[in-house]
Amino acid sequence: MPGFQNKTVLVTGAASGIGAASVSWLAAQGIGRFVLVDLDAERLERLDTGRETLRLAGDVADPELWHRATEGCDTLDLAVLNAGRADAAPLVDIDFLQWRQVMAANLDGMMLSLQYAMRAMAASGGSIVQTASISGIKAEPGTAAYAASKAGVIQLAKVAAKEGAAQGIRVNAIAPGGVDTPIWDQVPMFRDLVDQEGSRKAAIAALGRMATPLGRYARAEEIAAQIGFLLSDAAATITGTVLVSDGGYSL
Ligand code: NAD
Repeated sequence: MPGFQNKTVLVTGAASGIGAASVSWLAAQGIGRFVLVDLDAERLERLDTGRETLRLAGDVADPELWHRATEGCDTLDLAVLNAGRADAAPLVDIDFLQWRQVMAANLDGMMLSLQYAMRAMAASGGSIVQTASISGIKAEPGTAAYAASKAGVIQLAKVAAKEGAAQGIRVNAIAPGGVDTPIWDQVPMFRDLVDQEGSRKAAIAALGRMATPLGRYARAEEIAAQIGFLLSDAAATITGTVLVSDGGYSL
């Protein structure tokens, strides 16, 4: 894939799931330097990149984290803005503090990440991919906070694409359907399904069969490669788009 050799890339939510798979995929393409951000300091430290790596443990919604990022690295070529958390509650039951926490991680954090990345790319251009979700496009009961935050992520990508174009900055979003990652372990409905099906693997398979025409959830490595395509020079004319990768779920 063209466009990765010796480049500097930011990955948020790098310690797990899609973020960790993106780090592996990018390392294999010859990335020069990583700037990795995650709340989970221990897992972030354990991540083996095989490259020069600046590790920043902290919350993407904390402006102080981005001051530290700017001090450690003020120029970037590429960014995967991917940190996010799940939530599931019907609107009538949403706890306001929980709502604020989802908005902070998924939307405030995305805005601050985007602001840092665009400033660090202003001189030489670059390419950014934001991880949204199919929940930001297709409504389902019980997803209000997560869905509203991800719809916001999609619109942020479009505005950023228009604002960044003059400086040669491309911004795209990916909207995965179900992906087999640890994020599901935060969802009570999934924990019940694991008990019912007898194992985590069987529960993921059952979810994949439920409403996805292709009959399965994606693997984090598959989403990472699709993010890689959007980041790469092979996508040089693509900006402001949302790549839906949901096995046909939203059809
Ligand atoms: P994951 O839980 O495996 O990874 C998410 C990572 O983000 C974790 O390492 C976590 O510590 C980190 N993180 C969470 N909040 C953070 C914060 N405020 N600041 C810094 N780091 C934070 O989950 P994943 O599935 O790999 O999720 C990655 C992204 O993909 C998320 O934005 C998620 O909403 C999105 N997504 C996931 C799915 C899915 O089915 N797994 C589907 C659509 C979209």
